[in-house]
Amino acid sequence: MKTINEIILNELLNPNGFSIIAGPCTIESKESLDEIASSLSDLGIMILRGGAYKMRTSPQSFRGLGEIALSYLNEIGEKYNMITVSECIDINSVEIMSAKIDVLLIGTRSMQNYPLLETLGKINNPVILKRGMSSTYKEWLLAADYIVQSGNPRVILCERGIRTFEPHTRNTLDLSSIPSVKTMSSLPIIVDPSHSTGKREYVKSMSWAAVAAGANGIMIETHLNPDKSFCDAEQTISLNEMSEIITPIKEIRRLLYS
Ligand code: PEP
Ligand code: MN
Repeated sequence: MKTINEIILNELLNPNGFSIIAGPCTIESKESLDEIASSLSDLGIMILRGGAYKMRTSPQSFRGLGEIALSYLNEIGEKYNMITVSECIDINSVEIMSAKIDVLLIGTRSMQNYPLLETLGKINNPVILKRGMSSTYKEWLLAADYIVQSGNPRVILCERGIRTFEPHTRNTLDLSSIPSVKTMSSLPIIVDPSHSTGKREYVKSMSWAAVAAGANGIMIETHLNPDKSFCDAEQTISLNEMSEIITPIKEIRRLLYS
């Protein structure tokens, strides 16, 4: 891996650092991923996300292109010198994913898949562990312990909203998890404003709020044509909206943390 990528990974793993991860919910084709990566890279974003295996609530929904999408992500990550992130949904794909993808993502539905977490403890790739949609901070941190105690200390927590009685947003973004978890753990914690709100019109304000609350990064679903996204179109933002989010983030961080 090139030196520049090690610097980006170290920033992602730094409990005082800040990183931006962006890309489509799911990889739709090599061409569209290439165009998204190119635009993100022009914005200075160096970590590219994209799902190859999707845990969909309905078995009828698009469930990802599978292994071929890992190759697309790998190739495009190399082309633009970006760190790659993709969701790992089962033990069987850990080996191939750890070879092709830089950072493995554990989605909310898998947070308590303990055999999978233990398997992730045996690889060296950093792991982003999303909070279970009905999990307490303690349960989330204990899930992280499964990975750490199995031998992999490179864990990043990700707040992605929890289930509450409020139906207006897809989930409720629990920003108090950031200062709370920071009193209990030294792991970095990032925020996913896309899945936590489910609506693209709230992604910008929740991103800024996450930064102000002390998050170590944000992960945002972006697409060249958000309405045409195969998955999660309502919460996906355009590259233009992405660019509007970035500059104020730098300002908020400068005001609060420099
Ligand atoms: C994702 O980030 O692609 C995803 C499926 O999110 P979550 O597990 O938070 O629903
Ligand atoms: Mn999604």
